[in-house]
Amino acid sequence: MVETLFQRDIKIKRVTTLGYSAAQALNDPVRIKILEILSHVQMCAEEITKTLGSSGYKKATTTIRHHLDTLKSAGLIQATKMVEVRGAVMKYYSPTLRAFSYDMPDLEKHVKLVDDTGTKMFKILKSVLEDKKFIAAFVGKDACGQCKGDHYKEYAALEIVSAALAEAMDRKEYAELIIGKEQPKKVAIRQ
Ligand SMILES: [Zn+2]
Repeated sequence: MVETLFQRDIKIKRVTTLGYSAAQALNDPVRIKILEILSHVQMCAEEITKTLGSSGYKKATTTIRHHLDTLKSAGLIQATKMVEVRGAVMKYYSPTLRAFSYDMPDLEKHVKLVDDTGTKMFKILKSVLEDKKFIAAFVGKDACGQCKGDHYKEYAALEIVSAALAEAMDRKEYAELIIGKEQPKKVAIRQ
């Protein structure tokens, strides 16, 4: 006899296309912080150590070098330039993934915004999945043993949406949305 003691339905709330090595590489708050720092300006290990130190992450440069190796192997950062300073070679890095080192926001109060955005996202996903070039390149490579679905097609579409999101965030107009066009006005603090 089977007695169910606990049961509930869990809804998927987030989607990630991170592969195994990238997920492993992100399994460390310091490495997430490094990606966040590099998203503003390319830096070498020494500069990253200094910047982390001033935001409360006191680490040795050798530790940071090790973190950089891990991020590089996972393809999350790439060397952008090499310079020689008094005989020492400095390597500068830029990220290939945008990471944010915040706690997850509570979206319970924003169900409508999520739902409305979901409607728009569905149209975007549909347009990708029905694109002729997309179908020729990515469809028919997988059939799931459990649902017969083509999850490779699903994965490729998500990678395209993710790359498109990164492309949109790279535009000048996006920076204006985040930083603002004008000089910030004095903010009145209401008591
Ligand atoms: Zn399946």
